[in-house]
Amino acid sequence: MSKKTIADVDVKGKKVLIRVDFNVPMKDGKITDDTRITAALPTIRHALEHGGKVIAFSHLGRVESEEDKKENSLKPAAERLSELLGKPVAFIPETRGEALEKAAAALKEGEILMFENTRFEDVPGKKESKNNPELGKYWASLGDVFVNDAFGTAHRAHASNVGISENIGEGLAVAGFLMEKEIKFIGEAVNNPKRPLVAILGGAKVSDKIGVIENLLTKADKVLVGGAMMFTFLKAQGKAVGKSRVEEDKVELAKSLLAKSGGKLILPVDTVAAAEFKNDSPAETVSVDAIPADKMGLDIGPGTVALFGAEIAKAKTVVWNGPMGVFEMPNFAKGTIGICEAIAGLQDAVTIIGGGDSAAAAISLGYEDKFTHISTGGGASLEYLEGKTLPGVASISDK
Ligand code: ADP
Ligand code: MG
Repeated sequence: MSKKTIADVDVKGKKVLIRVDFNVPMKDGKITDDTRITAALPTIRHALEHGGKVIAFSHLGRVESEEDKKENSLKPAAERLSELLGKPVAFIPETRGEALEKAAAALKEGEILMFENTRFEDVPGKKESKNNPELGKYWASLGDVFVNDAFGTAHRAHASNVGISENIGEGLAVAGFLMEKEIKFIGEAVNNPKRPLVAILGGAKVSDKIGVIENLLTKADKVLVGGAMMFTFLKAQGKAVGKSRVEEDKVELAKSLLAKSGGKLILPVDTVAAAEFKNDSPAETVSVDAIPADKMGLDIGPGTVALFGAEIAKAKTVVWNGPMGVFEMPNFAKGTIGICEAIAGLQDAVTIIGGGDSAAAAISLGYEDKFTHISTGGGASLEYLEGKTLPGVASISDK
């Protein structure tokens, strides 16, 4: 990898600023899923075990008013972190000021503090989200080294990532282990893949994924399209799609993508259709040439699973974004499960999932361990798959 990581710098005796992504789901002040905190442990532990004095911080939720601050304190996340680390994590209930500065200066080697939600700086003036130059400079002044481990916000130039990187000093902004994994796996899969590279695209809308489809059509050897977006493509081929979800205003775009795909883009041959968007609505598998007018396609059919499976079997790299059907309903999850199975059967291929719902599907269906990498950043992974430069990644020092 061309970016510096925490393993490339000596943190002993240094104040190590670590931008983590603790944007965890909360209900009534309690964390309902601590995956993101667990995911940051390797980086934090490395810094502590190597004698760093750690200053950790993150955003949490949306903070647009004073009222929003009540529900979005990072304190519960700091407490959970302390439990997971098995050592005290001093929580500083502010984002700047004397208490923070004193606590940072008093840290000893192997100690850690966490300060309040970076987005509290958005009220007023959106200082964090608009990368206010004074704020990035201030946070940078609290530490000696900056470790960016928050891939989930890498597609945004905020004060707590780009702002600090720009002010910490030459060569002192490095990637944490989580960030390193994302750059390595998604970056290499898209830009320097072992071939054949098979991209699998699905999910709700063509319009969300135009950039991803266009980029992957230029990079992949095959692009398999399922999910609701398949119907916009089928319609572009002149087929009748019944009540299936179609984006009428994207049919022309789908036509032009098909025309320039050079045969790379492969569409389903069958679909599981039902009259209503309900798990128990009676379903039947039909050819894509015979979708009944009063039914909607809610999954890819077994013929398509076999067709896609044969392409996947040849792959050395698989990049997947977007479920193949309405996987939240068990009767329409079989297509997504079938693709998970095909991927699970690969021996020496790099297999990557990006996208919030896609990752949730693979995990909830029990295939978490079958992938080389499940990306943690929803929007950031999509923009990476689009081939965009992510400001949070770009601002990390080169090796
Ligand atoms: P990601 O978050 O991984 O980028 P999307 O948000 O694009 O994925 O799409 C996920 C959603 O697409 C799921 O909620 C799923 O139910 C829905 N979906 C998939 N196939 C269909 C379909 N045939 N009809 C309606 N919705 C679908
Ligand atoms: Mg989604």
